[in-house]
Amino acid sequence: MNQYNLRSDEVVIIKHNRIARGGIMASYSDELILTNLHLILISKSIFGKVKNTSRFPVDEIKVFNGKAQTILGKRANGTPQLEVYFTNGQEFFGFESKKVVKDWIKAINQLVSGQDAVIGGFDDRTIPGTEFIASSIKDTLNTVKGVFGKQPVKVSQECKSCGAPISGFEGQFVRCQYCETNQQMK
Ligand SMILES: [Zn+2]
Repeated sequence: MNQYNLRSDEVVIIKHNRIARGGIMASYSDELILTNLHLILISKSIFGKVKNTSRFPVDEIKVFNGKAQTILGKRANGTPQLEVYFTNGQEFFGFESKKVVKDWIKAINQLVSGQDAVIGGFDDRTIPGTEFIASSIKDTLNTVKGVFGKQPVKVSQECKSCGAPISGFEGQFVRCQYCETNQQMK
């Protein structure tokens, strides 16, 4: 079961299958998936046929003051959208509910900041189209553990950008305290 062509160390954190992309006439037919490595957008026709798959690396999301540059915005027709700013551009994803956008912002923030806290406060599991796969980064690590068949390992390494010492769990994204570069622990 690898319908999204995930890497062996890639696990799904949250997905939503009623995403609109493009002009105000766009329908909520696309699917958005957040994994520990990518935001994956699956563009579909209104009949559900997959047209295109785009992958946006999580480690290219801009971070400022410890927060991912992802905000709740508005489309031209006033409906909510998730706006994500990457080092080389931005992507907008139309949602039907502001609350769901806020949950996505929380999940993305938690992923890029490498926090080991529960992604709390999801009380909208009944909203159509939303499916929470892992309730916490710990779950994600446990799933990664399942993939590799071993416990998550605490590791230390040098920041790939400035050489400062950083630590975290193997496979986890960690932000360097000194230069704010996101990177995956090896
Ligand atoms: Zn650094």
